[in-house]
Amino acid sequence: MTWSNARRVFRFAPSTNGYLHIGHAYSALVNFEMARATGGRFLLRIEDIDLERCRPEFEQAVYADLAWLGLAWEQPVRRQSEHFADYRRALARLEKRGLTYPCFCSRGDIVHAVASIPGWPKDPDGSPLYPGTCKRLSREERRRRLGAGHPAAIRIDMSAALAEIGFPLGWREHRSGSVGQDVVAAPEAWGDSVLARKDIPTSYHLSVVVDDALQDVTDVVRGEDLLAATSLHRLLQVLLDLPAPSYRHHALLRDPSGQKLSKSLRATPLRTLRQDGLSPAEVRAKFAADLAFAGVS
Ligand code: GLU
Repeated sequence: MTWSNARRVFRFAPSTNGYLHIGHAYSALVNFEMARATGGRFLLRIEDIDLERCRPEFEQAVYADLAWLGLAWEQPVRRQSEHFADYRRALARLEKRGLTYPCFCSRGDIVHAVASIPGWPKDPDGSPLYPGTCKRLSREERRRRLGAGHPAAIRIDMSAALAEIGFPLGWREHRSGSVGQDVVAAPEAWGDSVLARKDIPTSYHLSVVVDDALQDVTDVVRGEDLLAATSLHRLLQVLLDLPAPSYRHHALLRDPSGQKLSKSLRATPLRTLRQDGLSPAEVRAKFAADLAFAGVS
């Protein structure tokens, strides 16, 4: 599938479990300016699958902060909490092909299972790789536990998934310059990652991949903290037969001289800076070099 003749589609996809800080402003502005410079579309997506931690007041603050910054986005805004059925459907496709299994372990069970194994590997987020305890359960035992109402997460069977694909995965990363570089994906670094949590019928990884495809996103521009996650996203895209967007993982924060912005500025909610008198023009000025760069690629 090629995007060459289509309008490019960018998105800013904050999780509404807190107030936006200036790093979010940067990411939103880069997406917005890239959409503008390329005659593309700019979407806002509310990532609120975590019903415990995401709150309506944070969502309202997202709208207020982005409007204050001078951004405009298409309506309606997609709120992930209204689309669990889409994620369930995608998961069912993987389940049917035997690429997933239910996992009854708690976080504590996993930590305990690997505690005595020196050098047990961690995933890119720093959690111990899943040791496969529930993958080894018999069919009967699985059925018994599910039948008895034991809560289960759903994990991807990484080795089965990789065997099904059978070719190396990668993506085009546009971090430096407009031509981009081919990056080799390493989804195995995530092990048997959780695709649906016990308390939430999806996960960040599954819902972001489903939504980017459903919303025809062509360009994923986000912080470099999500670079490693892209390996898993590419795997899910191929397994679900979804198109691959191009990716640009931007540095988390820089001031015009290339220094990382100070911690306090980075962590302070945008709305507080705004109440303290910061203007949208000052925010843009901080990122002027990057926003100009966004305009040329
Ligand atoms: N919701 C994620 C976050 O706030 C970003 C998702 C993405 O850009 O892929 O960190």
